[in-house]
Amino acid sequence: MSAKVIDGTAFAAQVREKVATHVAGLKEVHGITPGLAVVLVGEDPASQVYVRAKGKQTVEVGMASFEHRLDAATSEAVLLDLIARLNADPAVHGILVQLPLPAHLDEDLVINAIDPAKDVDGFHISNVGLLATGQKAMVPCTPLGCLMMLRAHHGSLSGLEAVVIGRSNIVGKPMAQLLLGDSCTVTIAHSRTRDLPEVVRRADIVVAAVGRPQMVPGDWIKPGATVIDVGINRLPPAEEGAKGRLVGDCDYDSCAAVAGAITPVPGGVGPMTIACLLANTVTACCRAHGVPEPEGLTA
Ligand code: NAD
Repeated sequence: MSAKVIDGTAFAAQVREKVATHVAGLKEVHGITPGLAVVLVGEDPASQVYVRAKGKQTVEVGMASFEHRLDAATSEAVLLDLIARLNADPAVHGILVQLPLPAHLDEDLVINAIDPAKDVDGFHISNVGLLATGQKAMVPCTPLGCLMMLRAHHGSLSGLEAVVIGRSNIVGKPMAQLLLGDSCTVTIAHSRTRDLPEVVRRADIVVAAVGRPQMVPGDWIKPGATVIDVGINRLPPAEEGAKGRLVGDCDYDSCAAVAGAITPVPGGVGPMTIACLLANTVTACCRAHGVPEPEGLTA
């Protein structure tokens, strides 16, 4: 069997198109332009790339982008003051503080200072609680993107066995909550799980979010299962000076030989994450103004 490839790049383009259509409608009918503020503290190269991509895509779908780049030595007080101003700014519907923050800043404190209604990353404890209790929340972008692709592939997820490998607050835990919300039977596996291969073998849906290159081989996968590979890992370069190849947490070739469907790395979950950030921003904007939300862009 050769798995169907779930094309995250194409799917993300569809999500962005839906967002752009809704944004155009908001402008035309209500005179509202959704706005996303991204805050970057310091000069982490990977974060700079992400922030640039987020700003570019925000503008491309017709939303306003506000970028705030702060020095690595910025104090907590200055950062909290900026967040308070963004919370109060009616042109800003979504606020994202790019993580990781420099070590002297308390990430939990900073994230929880964001107005939960503008918390488009879905990391504020209020949104975590709303998601856990099945209420309307802002949902973390990466798991939301995974859920959208799973729903599109399976239709209903009800009753399916899902195994999420990884228990981070950003991916693993919210992913498990979302799958539970769609009535899957959910197992969260992690670094202390006993006999991980056996746990994974019972899954109709495997979501791997570990950060270990190619750790899931094809012989852990139940024939026909759907594999969602969240991991982004760079292999050591083949030759000096070159860049190593990007791979996921799953061994693509052996998993694709057994699975029913699989997301590639790159081109799977990655592109969906920013698309879902845009989706969350338009959703937050609609909720703030009490106008109908776009369909199919939330959990
Ligand atoms: P994390 O380091 O916070 O969490 C990793 C989890 O893996 C932990 O819960 C740990 O218990 C588990 N783990 C570690 N070793 C294990 C093992 N041997 N067996 C089973 N479980 C094990 O990482 P994260 O932030 O959740 O990210 C996970 C991966 O997803 C990384 O590669 C990251 O780059 C990637 N990621 C991708 C996107 C995207 O947009 N595609 C977004 C976020 C994270």
